[in-house]
Amino acid sequence: GPVDLEADVLVLGAGPGGYSAAFRAADLGLKVVLVERYATLGGVCLNVGCIPSKALLHVAAVMDEVSHLGDLGVEFGAPTVNIDKLRGHKEKVIGKLTGGLAQMAKMRKVTTVRGYGSFIDAFHVEVEETAGEAQAKTGAKKVVRFKQAIIAAGSQAVRLPFLPQDPRIVDSTGALELKGTPKKMLIIGGGIIGLEMGTVYSTLGARLDVVEMMDGLMQGADRDLVKVWQKMNAKRFDNIMLKTKTVGAEATPEGIKVQFEGLDGTKSEGVYDFVLQAVGRTPNGKKIAAEKAGVAVTDRGFINVDVQMRTNVPHIFAIGDVVGQPMLAHKAVHEAHVAAEVAAGAILGDAHLSKSQFDARVIPSVAYTDPEVAWVGLTEDQAKAQGIKVKKGLFPWSASGRAIANGRDEGFTKLLFDEETHRIVGGGIVGTHAGDMIGEIALAIEMGADAVDIGKTIHPHPTLGESIGMAAEVAHGSCTDLP
Ligand code: FAD
Repeated sequence: GPVDLEADVLVLGAGPGGYSAAFRAADLGLKVVLVERYATLGGVCLNVGCIPSKALLHVAAVMDEVSHLGDLGVEFGAPTVNIDKLRGHKEKVIGKLTGGLAQMAKMRKVTTVRGYGSFIDAFHVEVEETAGEAQAKTGAKKVVRFKQAIIAAGSQAVRLPFLPQDPRIVDSTGALELKGTPKKMLIIGGGIIGLEMGTVYSTLGARLDVVEMMDGLMQGADRDLVKVWQKMNAKRFDNIMLKTKTVGAEATPEGIKVQFEGLDGTKSEGVYDFVLQAVGRTPNGKKIAAEKAGVAVTDRGFINVDVQMRTNVPHIFAIGDVVGQPMLAHKAVHEAHVAAEVAAGAILGDAHLSKSQFDARVIPSVAYTDPEVAWVGLTEDQAKAQGIKVKKGLFPWSASGRAIANGRDEGFTKLLFDEETHRIVGGGIVGTHAGDMIGEIALAIEMGADAVDIGKTIHPHPTLGESIGMAAEVAHGSCTDLP
């Protein structure tokens, strides 16, 4: 059939994975076509994920911080929130970043095509063009022929099938729309996304309930870190329901009536004016007609790849949320660079680029709650479960000059070292700005640092980051007077 556009590399989806792959491929001199159904680039992360959530969490953190200042002798009146202005701030943040991406795409001569892309065969994608807010199909179609393709179709929120359609029941995208300030909110799923959004709404005045199937909130993080967060946040919650399933719900004029069932069989019920489902995300692998290109997709919609991000079809790559956990933007970006380099290597016949592979040892996780919880590498729980012997260095922030000066000394920094090699294998931080500091621990792991390397690295005083050096010294034994 007729071909409208020719590409060296076609990138399907313009989230952190897709735009990073497109930009890298263009920088390497390739002709790139980037297909995205939304009007803006940036995908989930910039439009309805990482960035808008942090814009709101920043405001919440400042509001909470200010409310603490009473203890320090500085009183403010109760805040008044203009929700339209706050939403406007969030929109402006998104606009700045997505606008910047559009400019960068233009500068690199990346051709963007707006619409739903799906494979016709292993060398062609058809794009059904879209317009407007609702991504309505215009009826126009474009066919793109490509030499190599990178699938970066991302993921979407899981919808519990038994929840009724009701504007009071939302996923993270709906919660980020910030339509109002509910009084009583239920968070279904006690993971990072649910607890971040809960933090925002609770600071804006909502009382929270959370229901979680597992035996603790923020699964994946060590319990000692989560315990500190939970103690500081207890005041936000009326009810933390663990080992409990949501089994039904009905929309009534008084609110959403939700039924719960404990794993022990106990039944209970609650009424809410706002319900956030945050029970995970499902990959978009099944929505792109991958089978027509011969690309294998798992039952759950993931696309399996090798260390070079190649699918089972060697000239088609996949990256980001669609290839698996952890579904994080920084993972997508790094995978994107690998895919773009390997694709470029094949097209340009460049042996060096062709060797590129994803070999990150660790990928950090951060809950941008207040306090923040961040961890990377092996956790203590994992070490225990896997029978790996680790030596722990823990530095409590109650001994940190800066944390005390900030009036926020509830946190701690923990490093884990392999008992045999003495190399650092993991670390966790709970406290303000934990997310900004976890990168240093990731670097230490990537570089194979041991406790002496970290402990002897001079950190500036007084900073929270100093706690990483101190934790290493604790592990090394030169700080035995500390717990
Ligand atoms: P996506 O960002 O999902 O992008 C995929 C893009 O492909 C979308 O724009 C979609 O429209 C497009 N697309 C899909 N199919 C087609 C098609 N057939 N045709 C055309 N276009 C298509 N991660 C972090 O690292 N840090 C955070 O703080 C963080 N916070 C988050 C908060 C929330 C509320 C949510 C929901 C997620 C958060 N994440 C965070 C996760 C992060 O957003 C994702 O890991 C990241 O966006 C994945 O990037 P991606 O490129 O794989 O896919």
